[in-house]
Amino acid sequence: MKGEINMAKVFYDQDVNWEAMEGKKVAIIGYGSQGHAHALNLRDSGIDVTIGLYKGSKSAEKARKAGLTVQTVAEAVAGADITMVLIPDEKQADVYKNEIRDNLRPGSALAFAHGFNIHFKQIIPPDDVDVFMVAPKGPGHIVRRQFVEGSGVPDVFAVEQDASGQAFDIALAYARGIGGTRAGVIQTTFQEETETDLFGEQAVLCGGICQLITNGFETLCEAGYQPEIAYFETFHEMKMIVDLMYEGGMAKMRYSISDTAEYGDYTAGPRVISDASKQAMKDVLHDIQDGTFAKDWLLENKAAGRAHFLAMRRQHAEHPIEEVGAKLRKMMSWLNEEKPE
Ligand code: NAD
Ligand code: MG
Ligand code: MG
Ligand code: MG
Ligand code: MG
Ligand code: MG
Repeated sequence: MKGEINMAKVFYDQDVNWEAMEGKKVAIIGYGSQGHAHALNLRDSGIDVTIGLYKGSKSAEKARKAGLTVQTVAEAVAGADITMVLIPDEKQADVYKNEIRDNLRPGSALAFAHGFNIHFKQIIPPDDVDVFMVAPKGPGHIVRRQFVEGSGVPDVFAVEQDASGQAFDIALAYARGIGGTRAGVIQTTFQEETETDLFGEQAVLCGGICQLITNGFETLCEAGYQPEIAYFETFHEMKMIVDLMYEGGMAKMRYSISDTAEYGDYTAGPRVISDASKQAMKDVLHDIQDGTFAKDWLLENKAAGRAHFLAMRRQHAEHPIEEVGAKLRKMMSWLNEEKPE
């Protein structure tokens, strides 16, 4: 790798002007993975939270059970000082146009947990509102779990539009309200967050790792090894290896594995994830940067009724690795297979 790394400033609880949040009413639009975490964490931080959902949403019952007030999106936005949009990215533009835009109070704030719709100009807010982002760098259920445990998931935050002159303070205080500044929060831009978030999930965290595991599993099975053994060697151990890297970097993981494993790590790794893979990563990044990915995904949602997306979801769910995994996880008594709320 070329170039030196300049470390970004990290903001913690003590850097926050909490007064920027005090007395503010927050509308959380959507009560899914991020929505429930933001809503419950803010509420537990003493903030007045209302949930905005469409009539008949399955999430409404869950929110009410948690003691939260549920209104229509329009009502929640009209009463809010901060509207945080936490519905799926591909639905945000329509909901914004139909229910949010005309109810936004001048001087209030419109907020996001991912920059997609602002960066790709699917939502163009009026000039008289603040526009900011607080994006937890972790799944919503972990954002809630770690908050309850007293820690927090790190966030990135960004200010796109500062109508009040206070948007920076409000965004940072919001990050504190959901527990982010307990872990540390870094400032970014909508462009940087959108492009890097999409790249990370596509090339490495979700796309990259699932394909790596699947290729490894298939290679062993096709060579005649038992699928259960293949599963252990290419899938089950992944979490333990990643836990060590998460705690102490790759060096800690390499300290814990045998020298045999470490030697093979250095010699085989670059053969499998090669210069060709890095070139493919650059191509993926290019498609993100020039809007190709965003266009394809938005079109998939509009014209095609998500036919291709749903077919891919089904095909991947039916892969033998999932069957073997389900069987093996049942045999491992300490794992529960409950789906998160
Ligand atoms: P989700 O799919 O889990 O939740 C969707 C929620 O929106 C549900 O409560 C649903 O009822 C509601 N909803 C759907 N259509 C609606 C409509 N028309 N009107 C009102 N409510 C509607 O969503 P998510 O994965 O939490 O993603 C929300 C945002 O957070 C996205 O911008 C995403 O990129 C971002 N984000 C998500 C995660 C994550 O952990 N999933 C992490 C970081 C950022
Ligand atoms: Mg999902
Ligand atoms: Mg992400
Ligand atoms: Mg993402
Ligand atoms: Mg092994
Ligand atoms: Mg070792």
